[in-house]
Amino acid sequence: MKKIIFVLLAATFSMGAMAQLKVNKYHEPIKLEKKWLKYNPGDVVFRDEAPQTEGSKIYHNIIPNPTPYIQENARRVLQTLYYGPKDKNIPKIKTINYSLVNEDGISWKYGDGDNVGVCYTTGWIEKSFKDNDTMRLDYETRGVLYHELTHAYQLDPQGCGSYGDGGENWCFIEGMADGVRVACGCFDQDFKSNDRPRADTWRKGYRVAGYFLYWLMLNKDKDFLRKFNASAAELNPWSWDKAMKHVLGDKPENGVEELWDEYLHAIGDR
Ligand SMILES: [Zn+2]
Repeated sequence: MKKIIFVLLAATFSMGAMAQLKVNKYHEPIKLEKKWLKYNPGDVVFRDEAPQTEGSKIYHNIIPNPTPYIQENARRVLQTLYYGPKDKNIPKIKTINYSLVNEDGISWKYGDGDNVGVCYTTGWIEKSFKDNDTMRLDYETRGVLYHELTHAYQLDPQGCGSYGDGGENWCFIEGMADGVRVACGCFDQDFKSNDRPRADTWRKGYRVAGYFLYWLMLNKDKDFLRKFNASAAELNPWSWDKAMKHVLGDKPENGVEELWDEYLHAIGDR
């Protein structure tokens, strides 16, 4: 009898633990395919420009070796954007400068070509660690990295205005960065989640466009993000509408507005 109770208890406990693991949204990073494991995403030059801050101490405690951490997550971004290391479109990055800074904001990318940089603020680290939740800080830091490193490796669509005018080019750049972040699991992948902002148009960019792109990947083409990224090298002038038809087939239902409408109906927003 005792034995039976023990077995039952053990079973109940392990099922509980498993359920907890399943619902924990700060899950393990996505798996890297073998072909990317040895790819050199660029040398990392790590600088701590705010060593006196609490955020810096927290960062070093949780991420004692920033270089492999950044490189591994860079490979996850590359895997999401490209088929494999031999893809000729991959920008060859020589150096990724990565700095902890005590400034306003969260994180940003600077520079282009083969020398890029990412700043990450110690204030945001402190805020993300306010419940002393190590998993949450790792999840947030990786998510921010996915976004900023997408800017380092993504292609830049031509003939559709400039980033600064907030139009189709800007929407591609920021929508893809958040789309990669969702696809890598560092925004909640449930379309009902509060991580997904409700909006009337994909033109709002960032997560609004990012979740739309992720839905297209799940429902239209598993390589959608890769093909959409590649369309920036294949079309000139580029546009969201042309790129959708280029990737999914030149049919009226594959226009960007038609797909956006289909998406909103499918997830229950319309
Ligand atoms: Zn961005």
